[in-house]
Amino acid sequence: MTSTQDIILLGPPGAGKGTQAFRLATRLGLPHISTGDLFRQNLREQTPVGLMAKGFMDRGLLVPDEVVCEMVRERLELDDASSGSLLDGFPRTIPQAEALEGMLRRLGRRVDCVLFFDAQDATLVERIAGRLTCSGCSAAFHARFAPPKVAGVCDHCGKAGLAVRSDDTEAAVSARLVEYRTKTEPLLSRYTKSGQLRVINAEQPIATVENSLALALESN
Ligand SMILES: [Zn+2]
Repeated sequence: MTSTQDIILLGPPGAGKGTQAFRLATRLGLPHISTGDLFRQNLREQTPVGLMAKGFMDRGLLVPDEVVCEMVRERLELDDASSGSLLDGFPRTIPQAEALEGMLRRLGRRVDCVLFFDAQDATLVERIAGRLTCSGCSAAFHARFAPPKVAGVCDHCGKAGLAVRSDDTEAAVSARLVEYRTKTEPLLSRYTKSGQLRVINAEQPIATVENSLALALESN
């Protein structure tokens, strides 16, 4: 393939973007660029932009769009992203979307497709609030949909004491959804108008969602 491909995965927390991004990145041979991972990496390596982000976080402030955008800009300029990217968790606001368009334009590229993971709030809360994470190996389970073989014990490493992460409690999930509705949802009308939006029913089982994504990309 000679042309580049830049794809955005858009949707609320709990819609399954991370799971699908991992599969899609492998299949398309594109780097999976997750802002959550970028944050952790820049903080760990104490890069200039990571230290800038830390300065805001230490003061209890939200990391501003400019800092987030700088992390993504640097990432997009790495060699493995020269054929495109699969963006997960970015853009999350209108200013971020505008910045992304500028970054890609300077590289002679554009957003090719926006895959929107559509799901009801009740589904999202149910999915996230039931998540159990192993403190030993970070494996994820779900109280209802993917329970461990022995209650409270990790299937992978055998450690007892699967727990709900602090950002996966019902109150935290509701707060993340409010933030998503106010700041991220306005992107839907932007990408609908531009003709880039493909709506995926994210309420379906994982394998069905994977097929829907493949179809949406084929018809792009
Ligand atoms: Zn484990």
